[in-house]
Amino acid sequence: FNVPAVRNEPVKNYAPGSPERDLLKKALEEARAKTIEIPQYIGNKEIYSQNRRAISPPHDHQHLLGYFHEGSAEDVQVAVDAALEARKTWAVLNWEQRAAIFLKAADLIAGPYRAEINAATMLGQSKNAYQAEIDSACEIIDFLRLNVNFMRDIYSQQPISSDGVWNRMEYRPLEGFVFAITPFNFTAIAGNLPAAPALMGNVVIWKPAFTQVYSANVIMKVFKEAGLPDGVINMVLADGPVAGDVIFKHPDFAGIHFTGSTKVFQTIWKTIGENIAAYKSFPRIVGETGGKDFVLAHKSADPRALATGLVRGAFEYQGQKCSAASRAYIPSNLWEEVKQLMLSDLEEIKMGGVEDFSNFVNAVIDERAFDKITGYISKAKGDENAEIVAGGDFDKSKGYFVRPTIIRALKTDYVTLCEEIFGPVLTVYVYDENEFEKIIPIIDRTSPYALTGAIFANDRYAIQYASEHLVNAAGNFYINDKPTGAVVGQQPFGGARASGTNDKAGSVLNLLRWVSPRAIKETL
Ligand code: GLU
Repeated sequence: FNVPAVRNEPVKNYAPGSPERDLLKKALEEARAKTIEIPQYIGNKEIYSQNRRAISPPHDHQHLLGYFHEGSAEDVQVAVDAALEARKTWAVLNWEQRAAIFLKAADLIAGPYRAEINAATMLGQSKNAYQAEIDSACEIIDFLRLNVNFMRDIYSQQPISSDGVWNRMEYRPLEGFVFAITPFNFTAIAGNLPAAPALMGNVVIWKPAFTQVYSANVIMKVFKEAGLPDGVINMVLADGPVAGDVIFKHPDFAGIHFTGSTKVFQTIWKTIGENIAAYKSFPRIVGETGGKDFVLAHKSADPRALATGLVRGAFEYQGQKCSAASRAYIPSNLWEEVKQLMLSDLEEIKMGGVEDFSNFVNAVIDERAFDKITGYISKAKGDENAEIVAGGDFDKSKGYFVRPTIIRALKTDYVTLCEEIFGPVLTVYVYDENEFEKIIPIIDRTSPYALTGAIFANDRYAIQYASEHLVNAAGNFYINDKPTGAVVGQQPFGGARASGTNDKAGSVLNLLRWVSPRAIKETL
């Protein structure tokens, strides 16, 4: 089981004058200058339909980047047939052959496609250059390369044998096809959700979010160029319920790899339950869903580190990470200082399009998100239990811009402390510095989610107390750091409760869900 050694892909810094900056600027200009047509990729065909939908940058919604061709239920059926046909040869291919394809895809993104995929993520999803680089370059490369290592670890798990007997485990792919439903907020997740099951020998129907199709198209081109056989990953661009209607009734449906909202995941789970007798196997259900991620500060915390963690954790990528800090519990002794530090940081932050690399904040993904986020802000403005500490303004005339907003809630069950907003809104609750133990159970039960959380403290007893008493409140727990930015292989990512099945993306645990082992005993 020899695989290439891995390390995390180094993050390029795009400093003025650097070659990567010039390449990225060029890729952005080229992408903006043309209008592309994005097909569905089904079997060996690129399907162009009559039903075209426009794609625009969220920060410049009058500019046309291109169109994607929406698919129908019939297309999804054709994709399932193509996948099952491809399975006949893919599922029996040696693991080295499959690994080589995904290692090559990683190299293509690391080299020749880096600028193109980052530019697509920046324009299509309104991510600044740094946020694109850590997502559509580094994280996707890390998933592709590290998963090969995790696969090796799985395959090398073998039983013991005895005299005259040779026992072994065969890690077969699932019998059927896997459905991958992916979100807009991470190009890396969009790539990993179909790639991880495919690496383990499965065939996949992949349905990206309509708001991510622009960079999904680059991923598909990379997989093809890396030598992925036709039909192994089929990218369908049908509406969720249209695709679901075909897939969840199919006897060969073998698993779902999902990232998206808790509500959609619950609906999918129910649908699978209703159809359970129709399937040949019990499907694997793997999902990462919502979050209402907390930052708890103890009175011993370092105010500077805390303010930085809050500003970056809450406002990078406009708060549209499942892991984003969205509620903070700050002791009374630190509040004034932390508030001033955050306010002065926010004054430095620029908001605008991704083409100007000095903009830290870009637009939120679409009008629906804009309306939802700004609805919370508008309500807070007139509420006696809330005070707008920073930001609060928004404008959608050119793009969907929402200024980073800090709300101070005056009661612990104020709506923005409880509900997932998925935007640049941080709600702070200031607690009596001597009531640290009392605030912890409130944090634990305020939200149904349990994705990420952080404690800032210098006092070791406080750190231990929070770790113990918030043990089930987060699948990724950070001590003196922001709750975002998990690195593949370093902080396996995922949460429990309403945040998902916690199968830890980019780890052995995730890949194990895509195999159905056969134990073989051979008498010698
Ligand atoms: N893994 C990402 C992080 O740690 C978040 C992924 C997500 O938003 O789904 O920030």
